[in-house]
Amino acid sequence: MAATHDILLLHGLAAEATPRRRARLRSMTGAEEEGCVAAAEQGLPVRVALSRLIAGCVERLGDAPIAEEDAEALSIGDRETLALAIRAASFAGPMRARLACTACGEALDLALGPRELLAPATPAAPRLELGGVRLAFRPVTARDQAAVADLAGEEAAGAAMLSRCVTIEDDGDITALPRPAQEATAAHLLALDPMAETLLSCVCPACGAVVEGSLDAGAFLVEEIARRGPALAREVLLIARATGWGEQAILAMPRQRRLRYAALLGGEAP
Ligand SMILES: [Zn+2]
Repeated sequence: MAATHDILLLHGLAAEATPRRRARLRSMTGAEEEGCVAAAEQGLPVRVALSRLIAGCVERLGDAPIAEEDAEALSIGDRETLALAIRAASFAGPMRARLACTACGEALDLALGPRELLAPATPAAPRLELGGVRLAFRPVTARDQAAVADLAGEEAAGAAMLSRCVTIEDDGDITALPRPAQEATAAHLLALDPMAETLLSCVCPACGAVVEGSLDAGAFLVEEIARRGPALAREVLLIARATGWGEQAILAMPRQRRLRYAALLGGEAP
């Protein structure tokens, strides 16, 4: 059996009495990696691949397992938290990202520890009074992102997102509020789900400028796995030839164990 890890999500899934926030996850197996490779080959959005990955690696959320559609109903920040936790449980090395220095153009290679990026964060309150208007917020989910993905223009997508996630308690249309109030509402919606965005900052060794960027951990992980599609196939073949084990059995192994076996057999180093 693969080791399991527990992690507490900031929002979780709405349930009857208390939200389901405690996630028990196991490390990734080749089956989940194969799912990401297939999603990339079919040209599916990263969001869909990440939902599959989360549904595969989360054994329980609260007191029950989760399906792909439950993963779509999680907040973006909770999905990022799970992506980082799954990465930490399944990979030995750091996440290698590259930023370009905005001052001199130097390429900056970063090695990011997923565990360090899982710093505790505090969400803003779900209610806010703004100029006498009482607003209630819920965090943006993957389903919301999918719903506004096809709208033309950032402004239309932003307005649609506010309408989906913020309600005026005494009735009214959020997009009818004055522009500054809408901007404050959008900022509060972001603050409700602080794990949705991981900001990166480093000093350029060439010119000393402070370079800032952000990491989409879910997309990073899905792409990292999809890129290894050919390596995954080689590892499965190598182990199958040497042992006679079936493909399903090899894909069901925790990723690190499969990599160790393949390395012993002279395949790619982990
Ligand atoms: Zn520089």
